[in-house]
Amino acid sequence: MSIAGEVHPHTALRRACGEHGADLHLHSIYSDGVHTPNWLVSKAVHAGLDCIALTDHDTVEGCEETAKLCEEAGLGFIPGAELTAYALNEEIHILGLGLDIHNAVFLEKMNAFQEKRLERMKKMVSLLNREGIPISVEEVLEIAKCKVPGRMHLCRALLLGEYCRDRDEVFARYLGDGCAAYVPKMNFSVREAIRLIHTAGGAALIAHVGRQVKVPAIVEYGVQMGIDGFECFYPRHSKALCERLVAVCEEYHLLVSGGTDYHGVKDRVNIGAVKVPMKYVEELKQWDCSKNSKMG
Ligand SMILES: [Zn+2]
Ligand SMILES: [Zn+2]
Repeated sequence: MSIAGEVHPHTALRRACGEHGADLHLHSIYSDGVHTPNWLVSKAVHAGLDCIALTDHDTVEGCEETAKLCEEAGLGFIPGAELTAYALNEEIHILGLGLDIHNAVFLEKMNAFQEKRLERMKKMVSLLNREGIPISVEEVLEIAKCKVPGRMHLCRALLLGEYCRDRDEVFARYLGDGCAAYVPKMNFSVREAIRLIHTAGGAALIAHVGRQVKVPAIVEYGVQMGIDGFECFYPRHSKALCERLVAVCEEYHLLVSGGTDYHGVKDRVNIGAVKVPMKYVEELKQWDCSKNSKMG
């Protein structure tokens, strides 16, 4: 905490870095990221960021710890999570930003998702066994060390056992959608995801829109379902796509977000490589579900 009248050293560092902004899509050891909140906050400070959001898959477990660390570092923080939904035959990730991390209904649902993830992991491992890969669920859980085991953890187990050369091969042969050991997550609709996020007072935004197969259709679908915004700034989004998404958000009065989706495993980008302008972050912070929800 800074003493009144004194400039927090990190604020001074940010000023020295010039450009202001936020990275609102980060993963930690509480899901499939490899770094602790402490490590993330320290990197965020050195990247000159003003604000971050923690968006682990199906959990808000790391948010309290990260909030405290951000406060100590003089960094803004938005508690979040990334949920998985399905629409138009595609897996869609929905970010919940500004969540009440103590909301009982939300937490209960996260527990249910975590149980489903374990069941799914058992199925994927048995499919891999059938493919001649003698991997065990215990091995994967030992790598995951969190409540939300997923494909990235299984991928790491396969690489550790040298069953594949790299991540691309793992997903192309075994874990990619429709591949030999792929098992879809539980069926959850975009509308259900939005409703659940609203229950916890958060804003629901479609993540990394550019990764979808049917980009315009998914955008239109999101707007129809009453989504609150889109993740426009993303490392793999072209400038043209980013501008198009921002234009859609302006047209429908939706929130603009963005971030690196940093996991810390051979990521091609670093924390802060994407900086969401602070005017959008302020809009996000002021967003009020009871007044601003577009859900009919
Ligand atoms: Zn995602
Ligand atoms: Zn993510």
